[in-house]
Amino acid sequence: MQFEVVIGLEVHAQLNTKTKIFCSCPTSFGHEPNTNVCSVCLGLPGALPVLNKETVKKSIAFGTAINAKVNKKSIFNRKNYFYPDLPKGYQISQFEIPIVEGGEIYIDFEDGSKKRIGVTRAHLEEDAGKNIHHGSVSYVDLNRAGTPLLEIVSEPDMRSSEEAVLYLKKLHAILRYLDISDANMQEGSFRCDANVSIRPKGETKLYTRAEIKNLNSFKFIQKAIDYEVERQSNAWEDGVYERDVVQETRLYDTEKNETRSMRGKEDSAEYRYFPDPDLLPVVIPDDMMSECTKIPELPDQKRDRFVSEHGIKEYDANVITSSVEMARFYEAMISAGAGAKMSVTWLTVELQGRLVNGTNIVTSPVDAIKLASLVKRIEDGTISGKAGKDVLDYLMQNSIDVDEAIEKLGLKQVSDDGAICAIIDEVIGAHGNKVVEYNAGKVQLFGFFVGQVMKQSKGSANPNKVNDLLKQKLDS
Ligand code: ADP
Ligand code: MG
Ligand code: ZN
Repeated sequence: MQFEVVIGLEVHAQLNTKTKIFCSCPTSFGHEPNTNVCSVCLGLPGALPVLNKETVKKSIAFGTAINAKVNKKSIFNRKNYFYPDLPKGYQISQFEIPIVEGGEIYIDFEDGSKKRIGVTRAHLEEDAGKNIHHGSVSYVDLNRAGTPLLEIVSEPDMRSSEEAVLYLKKLHAILRYLDISDANMQEGSFRCDANVSIRPKGETKLYTRAEIKNLNSFKFIQKAIDYEVERQSNAWEDGVYERDVVQETRLYDTEKNETRSMRGKEDSAEYRYFPDPDLLPVVIPDDMMSECTKIPELPDQKRDRFVSEHGIKEYDANVITSSVEMARFYEAMISAGAGAKMSVTWLTVELQGRLVNGTNIVTSPVDAIKLASLVKRIEDGTISGKAGKDVLDYLMQNSIDVDEAIEKLGLKQVSDDGAICAIIDEVIGAHGNKVVEYNAGKVQLFGFFVGQVMKQSKGSANPNKVNDLLKQKLDS
């Protein structure tokens, strides 16, 4: 039996506002438990929520970025359930009328093809607190309760774990380009639930899905989906699909690389959603709408512009625009006068390859201006590309200027005609018989002479100069 994989993703992105969604407590991370709380986020009776305007603005920007409809009027609902980290007994979320509806995100495959993934909706909601378990004792920390989340729900349009990861990376980039979320997976500000089902190839109806929670890295998302697909198709082949594949929430165990049943999954009716009587419908004023639909250049547009304006390959442009930090770094190199294609290589291959042990493009000891200076020194012939690598190694360890490093390492190319001619004369003198052969028509010996001159100069001679001068001498 041939199966088709069907995946829909729900992402909870924490919006990077200073304060929570319905009170003025700070959203900052890593404080003493239960210090960033008030009567509203503690869920004390009678405390009234007040919507944080910034969350609406950021949602409008997001809706605009994914070509969605931003609803001028949306509604907050109560989603009722009990859990110790939810003191009110309900979560304020959006249900029938979310703020954002019907968008799209394009994913790019390595071979240059693209695929559209539909985004069903994005709605605003508050985060819950956190339960912390120590042996037989459990604690509740409500610092996170009331943190604003944008839940972004995709259509079940992905057909492999690879597509799921491409979608998540693109979504991650969009949030960061818009600067509406830190989208930090380790800190939990970008969390993903994967809904996974299979169906016989050719069928269009949706089969039973399992929802996998607790996915906090792209690598684990891919592995968890692959495991789940395998589990479901094995169940089918073994004739136990009906028994083993049920609508449920599963947890991914990163150590054992398996998913395990956590609980049966409620249908939305169980949550008894109803409009929150403490909150008015959200009505976006026209001026706010037009202000917030002005958004910065997004990854896809930047990629297309880099291809058309800089003449770089689409693949490279995708790599560079995959993160806003990398795109900014590249643009700063170009502004500083480095050539477009050289900048691609020196950024994505040479610098990236040297960013190890937790350093990244933001904390890199060599910034865009410095890397651009290095590229310019290669472009103007001061050093060779090979020497450039040594200079970069040195710059990664030592905080000095590019020209100083070149000087210190003695890597300056000899471009002075006199010095190169002297070496050429020496080489010609030492290989008289080869010169005779060359003059008799064995022109392929030219490479031999170039090699000898380069060797004599210990690699420091400017190869273009060597070529020109050698040609003049031999052919005169
Ligand atoms: P809930 O919020 O209860 O999890 P939704 O109907 O909002 O339910 O769906 C959540 C996600 O599940 C969406 O991303 C959707 O695309 C995906 N989904 C729904 N049915 C399937 C299915 N059969 N297989 C895979 N994904 C599915
Ligand atoms: Mg869900
Ligand atoms: Zn509060």
